[in-house]
Amino acid sequence: RVSDWRPRADIDLDALRANVRALLERTTGGARLMAVVKADAYGHGMLPCARAAREAGAAWLGTATPEEALALRAAGDTGPVLCWVWTPGGPWREAVEAGVDVSVSAGWALEAAAAAGRAAGRPARVHLKADTGLGRNGSPPAEWPGLVAAARAAEEAGAVRVTGLWSHFACADEPGHPSIARQQAAFSWALEEAERAGLVPEVRHLANSPATLTLPESHYDLVRTGVAVYGLSPSPEIGAPEDFGLRPVMTLRAPLAAVKRVPGGHGVSYGHHYTTPGETTLALIAAGYADGVPRHASGTGPVLVAGKWRTVAGRVAMDQFVVDLGGDTAAAGDEAVLFGPGDGGEPTAEDWARACGTIGYEIVTRVGPRVPRVYH
Ligand code: PLP
Repeated sequence: RVSDWRPRADIDLDALRANVRALLERTTGGARLMAVVKADAYGHGMLPCARAAREAGAAWLGTATPEEALALRAAGDTGPVLCWVWTPGGPWREAVEAGVDVSVSAGWALEAAAAAGRAAGRPARVHLKADTGLGRNGSPPAEWPGLVAAARAAEEAGAVRVTGLWSHFACADEPGHPSIARQQAAFSWALEEAERAGLVPEVRHLANSPATLTLPESHYDLVRTGVAVYGLSPSPEIGAPEDFGLRPVMTLRAPLAAVKRVPGGHGVSYGHHYTTPGETTLALIAAGYADGVPRHASGTGPVLVAGKWRTVAGRVAMDQFVVDLGGDTAAAGDEAVLFGPGDGGEPTAEDWARACGTIGYEIVTRVGPRVPRVYH
């Protein structure tokens, strides 16, 4: 049960569906769309968001962990799913048996996938990942020809089927960054090498949200969009969500838990980093860093209360923080809006990101398990 007295995150699934459709309209060459639903759909709730994304035309879903992919299957999703964060002890066989596509960046992972394919009695569906410059996972150029040759051999042995070839950008959210063109060239080379080895994948994919929005030549057969599905822009340099017809999906609100008058010189919250400049009204909001309100927002985070933006006064604590309403009045139970689409005068996740020195991705993804998600 959702209490009116607790913070809550309203999730606008119509906005999510409209975002997926807006992104599909931008894709070129018939590219399909993968909705990235890892990390509980960036904090929005994986299963309802995955369902809504499918309804709006997402042909694929993408997860980081195999557990996330298996949870989609357990909930009845039967469409294409790619899962990309693997360790040697991961549930390779369960994933293969569930028809989840797995990412492979190295020989040990190819062997794990092939062993799972043999054990399951059906080829593991594998996306070979090239490190074209991100320097995270992905096979580096020196190892790529060997990996594609080994994958082709495993295909011929019936243990795997290479369904995808892919890579991931490092700096697509910084338009014009020189690494973008270098990664595109490296990806073309990786595709040619794979083709020379005889691989014929179903999908080649490179673009994340920023590349989907700004680099049509990177769309190939599939774009992997995460943050844009949730209506956030990948970075201020790329633009605002509305520039692309996107609308933020999450609104984080909380009722005022208490309101009180205090005199000037009253220290507020741990460490007394804020002291009231004169007699004033303080409002208590029952959401803290355990709920995803960053402690870095102490003294900077914006909140809409009684029609005006206020700033977090003093430190954010684990379960609560305070705003100073000055001469304005409010009552316990009145609503505070931390962030939302912005068109009701409230701050956006991007405003919070700026206030905390982080990115909008982190603001929404951090919203904690104690905050109920309410779907509309
Ligand atoms: N592809 C991969 C491999 C990712 O790890 C992510 C998320 O970080 C995405 C795509 C989606 O990125 P974005 O949220 O910028 O669209």
